[in-house]
Amino acid sequence: MNLSVSRQISIRGISGSPGICIGKAYLVDKEGVNLIKRYPISDAQISKEIDRFKQAVSKAKNDYAKIIESIDKTIEDNLDILETHMALFEDKMLYGRTIEAITTDKINAEWALRKVSRRAKDMFQQIDDPYLKARVNDIDQVTDKIMSSLFGAEDKKISDINKRVILVAQDLSPAEASQIQLERIKGFVTDRGGKDSHTSIVAKSLKIPSVLGLGKAMVNVKNDDILIVDGSDGLLIINPDEDTLFQYEERLTKFEAYRAGLERESHLPSVTKDGVVLNLMANIELVEEVVAAKDYGAKDIGLFRTEFLYLDLRRFPTEDELFCRYKELVELMLPHSVTIRTLDINGDKVNPYLSVIEEDNPSLGLRAVRFCLENEPVFVTQLKAILRAAAIGNIKLLIPMISCVEEIIQVKQALGKAIHELEQEKKIFNKDIHLGVMIEVPSAAIMADHLAEHVDFFSIGTNDLIQYALAIDRRNPQVAHLYQALNPAVLRMIKMTCDAAKKKGIEIVMCGEMAGDPINIPVLIGLGLTHLSMNSASIPVVKNMIRNIDSRSAENSMEKIMGLNTVKEITEYIINEYKDILPFQGTDESL
Ligand code: PEP
Ligand code: MG
Repeated sequence: MNLSVSRQISIRGISGSPGICIGKAYLVDKEGVNLIKRYPISDAQISKEIDRFKQAVSKAKNDYAKIIESIDKTIEDNLDILETHMALFEDKMLYGRTIEAITTDKINAEWALRKVSRRAKDMFQQIDDPYLKARVNDIDQVTDKIMSSLFGAEDKKISDINKRVILVAQDLSPAEASQIQLERIKGFVTDRGGKDSHTSIVAKSLKIPSVLGLGKAMVNVKNDDILIVDGSDGLLIINPDEDTLFQYEERLTKFEAYRAGLERESHLPSVTKDGVVLNLMANIELVEEVVAAKDYGAKDIGLFRTEFLYLDLRRFPTEDELFCRYKELVELMLPHSVTIRTLDINGDKVNPYLSVIEEDNPSLGLRAVRFCLENEPVFVTQLKAILRAAAIGNIKLLIPMISCVEEIIQVKQALGKAIHELEQEKKIFNKDIHLGVMIEVPSAAIMADHLAEHVDFFSIGTNDLIQYALAIDRRNPQVAHLYQALNPAVLRMIKMTCDAAKKKGIEIVMCGEMAGDPINIPVLIGLGLTHLSMNSASIPVVKNMIRNIDSRSAENSMEKIMGLNTVKEITEYIINEYKDILPFQGTDESL
């Protein structure tokens, strides 16, 4: 008889990226910051509490001093920020008032600091001056730093983690996720985050399993707990029983064998059974991903998201810095093409140093091309760097979040300005560059026939198109089950866009995550799409699907699908029609 008590807990979240991993938990959040408790202290404890606070500040300052010593002094902005923070540590506003609050309210240091910091932030928020408003972020970061010291938390930088662990975090920003060191991190889980959020996109490209939107992982997991992350099924299992562990070890072995089989075939031609050739391209965020993209069999780079350099630097890069990156990328890809998408900042890729205005609905706010058109020097700088790199390799220029014809006209004016400046500066560049727009806002899909008059190609961004068409925040786990690529409304918008491109004879690409999910491939082939750009890790599985499909039967299926009313009907129809070739995702019931 087995008398041991099971400690196994299962929490369901949202699949961030497929696959299974088993390993020890490593909590990376600013521990405790979200779990701050208020507790009273006696008169006798006041001076001890103040000492504890002072020690925490001094530890935080020491850590900062070390960072200041080690950073590249040529990046002045970084230094300025750190020095501002150094001064804030002992500023009366935070330091003095927290000590006051401990003494007068007789409360613990954490609570006092939180109260004082909130007040200071409110005060700065009221001010109209954008520079002073930006101090809110400085206060936040300094507060977090002191808070971490108060909790005795180590300052953990993701890139510094040197154990084979599974990260557990409240949330990871796309930039933080991109710091993950593949050889060390087995997978990650977060309490926040939704389907096709940028964090999940980064996880897919790293090819590590992840589950997002778990809600209560941080409170249930302790460091070193054994975890199973089932990224395919969106499941986290904490401290699994022996049976579960055994079952998942078997599943993992099968999944790895399956994936290895697919990868071995990743260089076979991407062609349907009846000979239709599809161009499979990679979506990348960093130049470093090119090698993996080629390994997975990508021909071109169908989407280079350029915002990560801006996020990493925490300031606007110069034209030369951008040019060097783009040059490196096109040279690596020669003779194949690279589609460079201009800055898609804000939405869920917010850099506190760039966005001083707090927006209630950032996804509907000053994002992407809207931000660029409002900040013309930033935009023109990037366009100049792209045009210069276009003299070296095959570059296509892609503009995100276009919602009307006027915007594309304004983009062309900015492009004219960039060309004019480059001519004046006598720099080498190439202005014969293909100009395309992302179709990711419903108004753009509806106006696709008009937009087609102004551009050389369309790239359908389903990640946002689904979000905006169905009014589902792609980061919100509460509504993730409603975020559906196969929703008939989404399919109609994609069809409208394909029809408009076909009529005008311009190229059309799909670069949203929809293109990387095998279940959607019959639909995309049925719609006549032949250029698909995706997370490079998805290329082998998508290629395998393509090689087993007949394009004429996909066209027939598509006609039937367009007559169906619900996602359920559409999904069931596809599963039924293509059950013999749909891939194994690691959650197969037969296992
Ligand atoms: C999209 O919206 O589909 C897309 C590819 O862009 P991103 O995911 O960067 O918003
Ligand atoms: Mg998008």
